[in-house]
Amino acid sequence: MYSADTDDQDAARRPDGGPLPSATQPHGSGLESLRRRNTALVARTLLHRGPSARSEIVHATGLSATSMTKITAQMARARMLVELTAVAGGNMGRPRVPVALDTAYYRFVGIHIGLRRTTGGLLDLAGDVVTEHALTHRGRTQKAILNEARELRDQLVTEAGGPERVLGTGVATGGRVDPHTGVVVDHPLLGWKNVPLAQELGTDDGRPVFIDSSVRAMALAETYLSAARHAGSSIFLFIGNIVGAGLMVDGRLRLGHDAAAGTIDHLPLGHTAQGTPCRCGRTDCLAALASDVAVLERARQAGVVPSHASFESLVTKSRSGSAQAAALLRERAEHVGTAAGILLDLMDPDLLVLGGGLLQTPEHLDALRAAAAARLSRPTAAERIVPTGLGEGSLVRGSGSLPLHAFFSDPVPMLPV
Ligand SMILES: [Zn+2]
Repeated sequence: MYSADTDDQDAARRPDGGPLPSATQPHGSGLESLRRRNTALVARTLLHRGPSARSEIVHATGLSATSMTKITAQMARARMLVELTAVAGGNMGRPRVPVALDTAYYRFVGIHIGLRRTTGGLLDLAGDVVTEHALTHRGRTQKAILNEARELRDQLVTEAGGPERVLGTGVATGGRVDPHTGVVVDHPLLGWKNVPLAQELGTDDGRPVFIDSSVRAMALAETYLSAARHAGSSIFLFIGNIVGAGLMVDGRLRLGHDAAAGTIDHLPLGHTAQGTPCRCGRTDCLAALASDVAVLERARQAGVVPSHASFESLVTKSRSGSAQAAALLRERAEHVGTAAGILLDLMDPDLLVLGGGLLQTPEHLDALRAAAAARLSRPTAAERIVPTGLGEGSLVRGSGSLPLHAFFSDPVPMLPV
């Protein structure tokens, strides 16, 4: 389990000045812990910058050229790093040999357990999706869904080339998840309570399994791999079947006292929804006004789509010119804007990144930003609202970012011996 909230004041800084995410930073003194810290620093620098000359990494990290040569040689032996083809040096200088993360060998497994399907895949060391599979749930029981996830995990380990090439597995799902205990505390939409997910998906090969909420996992992915990689503090606001926020504060993922930070489902927005109240009893909360399921329910009740229709068919209907469908989706975007305005006022982050089914209708992003500006005490902060950059493989990149985060915080102990 990773520790997301640390008080390590010596956390490495990003080359561009922003703080790097930090989890279990290597502690202690002595040569071994220094080697671990420096390996982590060089690995994160390469993840952040992409292929770089050693001299550039020296400049970015402040390490000496001698240390750099030693560390990159060790990393190459450990199959973390490769030397690329030499490029000519400027001003008649010696040719430079850039180095890059080795994306051919090690893999992270990422599995996302959703309401309707389980999605799993492999990430390479640079966080790119190598392979992805989505399985629609064959049965809705907890047992059936867990069996399916185990089968998918085994298949992915085989596709990775065996357990010795898997650095770790990340499993993410909705609801409240405690990454320290590996337990899904409460997932109302799946009807799960106190499910020991880390234990259920653990393997005999000793490779670590990391569990967290899908929203926090995606917040990490945004920070390491996407829109928020230059932001020290950011909010990832997910609006889909579930709603929630992942909070990165000064480079650290905020977990909270009860692992419940970012639980904003029932934030009242001062507007009452038509239809069935939320499970919290309110009709004016973010989940009741803006989740995919709530918007779809309103569309069904108003006869805009048939009673068995999916959220996607509501989006299609809107695209094909239905003013009613478009109005429902636009109103939803405005409610999300109001919530985004509240969050921006509260935390004043560098960026607020949006994700989820909400982005199936990017045509309403301007309306969302306008609603945020109307709510904000400083309306210009609404310009810091951006869509996710994770794209198609976002579920795999999210769940795979759980072991990726642990690895780039302290790679050495996760390497197979
Ligand atoms: Zn509610």
